[in-house]
Amino acid sequence: MDNIVMITGATSGIGKATTLQFAELGYNLIICGRRTERLTELQDQLTTAHNISVHCLTFDVRSASQIQSALKSLPQEWSEISILINNAGLAMGLAEFHESDLEHWDTMIDTNVKGLLTVSREVSPQMVANKAGHIINVCSTAGHEVYPKGHVYCATKHAVDAITQGMRLDLHKYNIRVSQVSPAHVEDTEFAAVRFEGNKEKAKIYEDFNPLKSQDVAELIVFIATRPPHVNIQDILVMGTQQANSTHIDRSGRVHD
Ligand code: NDP
Repeated sequence: MDNIVMITGATSGIGKATTLQFAELGYNLIICGRRTERLTELQDQLTTAHNISVHCLTFDVRSASQIQSALKSLPQEWSEISILINNAGLAMGLAEFHESDLEHWDTMIDTNVKGLLTVSREVSPQMVANKAGHIINVCSTAGHEVYPKGHVYCATKHAVDAITQGMRLDLHKYNIRVSQVSPAHVEDTEFAAVRFEGNKEKAKIYEDFNPLKSQDVAELIVFIATRPPHVNIQDILVMGTQQANSTHIDRSGRVHD
């Protein structure tokens, strides 16, 4: 099968919005996440609406053995992945360094860094063998600057930025493009709910300004993926108009709604 896009974290937010846009363009999709029910619902929705094939893979990116057996389980016709979107990721907690939770640190490092590494390590040999492929990592403005109480989340996204560059140095000679997108605040995701572990009051961080939407980021990912073969976009750093950087946000009310 041609034009296969594998998307991690397809069950929600940016990953789901990206999945919907690739489906509209007719790509065949491998959608991944831990919540199988959401994946199968999405599979049904997409195969009904579009003339594409969709395969679901349930795995936790923190587990190398789950990633390996999920990829091994792919039927032969799904084995040549053209585009890998490394999107699965999360922030946990927002506390000063000396008061932070060690488990939060482990979860962020294991998901955002080791998960992205392992998935890419498993998928890239087939791209090298085919001398074709594109890996797009979802980084963050947190991969370019550090904000108060953001120490470890920002460290994981700085690691993503370094990994993107490192992959590109090693893989460009095999005709593999490696790109990333670095968004600031994106609403209509579960990011804040996850970060604050379901505390709805704390998760209300988008009410007084107008941030990016998942669809905005998805459009950029699709743009990166659809450039002519000789063009590799290295990074797109993007923020809502009311946001100048991680710490300067015009919170005077939602403009542009
Ligand atoms: P969501 O919480 O809405 O989506 C996160 C996705 O990651 C879910 O589909 C979730 O799937 C998946 N995921 C999380 N942990 C794991 C895991 N251990 N194994 C497998 N899948 C996992 O948040 P966003 O859409 O906002 O996040 C997507 C990416 O965007 C992340 O990398 C995030 O860091 C980045 N980002 C987000 C910003 C924002 O403001 N929202 C800003 C900048 C970057 P499931 O739970 O089913 O496993």
